[in-house]
Amino acid sequence: MTALILRQDRHPLQKLFCALALSILAVSSAQAAPLVEPTLHLKAEDGGSGNVGRVALTLDACGGQTDTRILSALVENRIPATIFVTGIWLKRNAAAVEIMRAHPDLFELENHGGHHIPAVDTPRKIYGIRSAGSPEAVRAEVESGAAALAGTGEPAPKWFRGATAEYSPSAIAMIRRLGFKIAGFSINGDGGSLLGAKETARRIAAAKDGDVIIAHINQPTHAAGEGVVQGLLALKAKGLMFVRLDDADGVGNDGTTD
Ligand SMILES: [Zn+2]
Repeated sequence: MTALILRQDRHPLQKLFCALALSILAVSSAQAAPLVEPTLHLKAEDGGSGNVGRVALTLDACGGQTDTRILSALVENRIPATIFVTGIWLKRNAAAVEIMRAHPDLFELENHGGHHIPAVDTPRKIYGIRSAGSPEAVRAEVESGAAALAGTGEPAPKWFRGATAEYSPSAIAMIRRLGFKIAGFSINGDGGSLLGAKETARRIAAAKDGDVIIAHINQPTHAAGEGVVQGLLALKAKGLMFVRLDDADGVGNDGTTD
């Protein structure tokens, strides 16, 4: 805010314009509802004592390629995962889709949008990505993602996760009306795939009963992917059970699942 401090030597009229500009800014930011980043947890199981616990691994395939370190580790260690895919990623990663479809017991594919555009119905930028900007554009992003999945012969998706995992509350309500639950998370495993291997492994290995982990499977050159594998193997060694979102009741806040 320091850049907005008015200098004493300015002409009074100039000061007035600056003040006007500031008040217009204040009004428009007050009108734009704050974005939410919903959480998701697994509902506790009745009489589930004796188990170390259950966690859900969710992996986003935003665009780009496939991290085969992660994909191979999931197949070799029989770790089930829910993969949130975009239409863009599906088009460019046929070989990975083939592997996932060959293991329907391990992989559940869900909707990450058609074009990886944040499900925010007012124009703004989130982490540098331009939002959908209108209710119609949010709807198009959700529906084109579902259509892309249907085109691969996958079952119709039941869950949606928007690009950046941030939403305007009115977009959440609309996505629910379109018939999707919205997948938040409780552990940010890889910090958007930007964390180092060690920190990623530490975060994932710290998951407890009921946690929903988010990480990425589309950045094969990032160090984070190595940490994802290490963290998952540590959880498996502890005896935690991995479930997919269609195997468990997920409970989210901000009206995302109820
Ligand atoms: Zn994404």
